[in-house]
Amino acid sequence: MSTLSPGPDAPARRPAVCLTFDVEPDYGRRPTFGILDKADSFFDWIRAERVPVTAFVTGRIIERGHRIIDRLLAAGIAVELHGYAHAPEAFGTMHGSHADEIQRGTDAYLGRFGRSPTGYRAPSGVVSAADLRLLDRLGYRYDSSVFPVRRSGRYDFTSLPRRPFRWGGLGLLEFPVALLTPRLPAGLTFINLFGPSVSARLIRRTAGPEPGPLVLDGHFHNLYADDEALAGLPWALRAVYTAGRWSGGLRCTRLLVDRLRRAGFEPSDLREVAALTQTADIPAVELGVFDSHPAC
Ligand SMILES: [Zn+2]
Repeated sequence: MSTLSPGPDAPARRPAVCLTFDVEPDYGRRPTFGILDKADSFFDWIRAERVPVTAFVTGRIIERGHRIIDRLLAAGIAVELHGYAHAPEAFGTMHGSHADEIQRGTDAYLGRFGRSPTGYRAPSGVVSAADLRLLDRLGYRYDSSVFPVRRSGRYDFTSLPRRPFRWGGLGLLEFPVALLTPRLPAGLTFINLFGPSVSARLIRRTAGPEPGPLVLDGHFHNLYADDEALAGLPWALRAVYTAGRWSGGLRCTRLLVDRLRRAGFEPSDLREVAALTQTADIPAVELGVFDSHPAC
């Protein structure tokens, strides 16, 4: 059953697969943006195949007026917010506050678009109870920061639902990122390593017999590489991205979407899915869940 609540007489909808991209500095941690200029074939693909995409863009990129914004908008891609500076030293933990990232990012978005964003994804997926309260106060409709896995020193979201839910006491919905395995999120970084066929099978198996919207997380650095930026990464990250270049890239993402489409999933825009989701139809999770993980 989809969470879109089509009503008793409406034809059953195909479950949604929502391709989302975090638009940030190169590899999420280099002070360069060269990869964002390499995306021609990505835009050609989503136009030709009519693949809806949702982009979570850092406030700093929005503020700088990088031309990727115009390209996203011209391609009909929903632009949402992905923090402000996206600085690794400020990722923090699920017990901290990232009010500055959220507030500065929201202000940058307002300055560019004249309205608030409706969706948020925290840099590196590190979101806290304080952050969620702030997003709610700022009028956000949904968050998609939760990767329902444990990341040492950052967060432990293993106890959270893998399907959409709402945060208790808030109007904010949560759309967790789908999983490849119970410990690996369905991010293109890992999908590049497994390849499209194995990844599609893993995602479907982990989602179970009644998959909700499947949220996939990607970056432009999963589609294209930049040798100079790659050389400046810590060795472990460099190794993962270098390995992913062999089986991954745009071709891998295209094939993955094809496989999921043929398996009955409907590529969908997460913002639209969030707008259509009936709050009453999904479970609530109290913010107290953050207190049950004093360490992560
Ligand atoms: Zn990011």
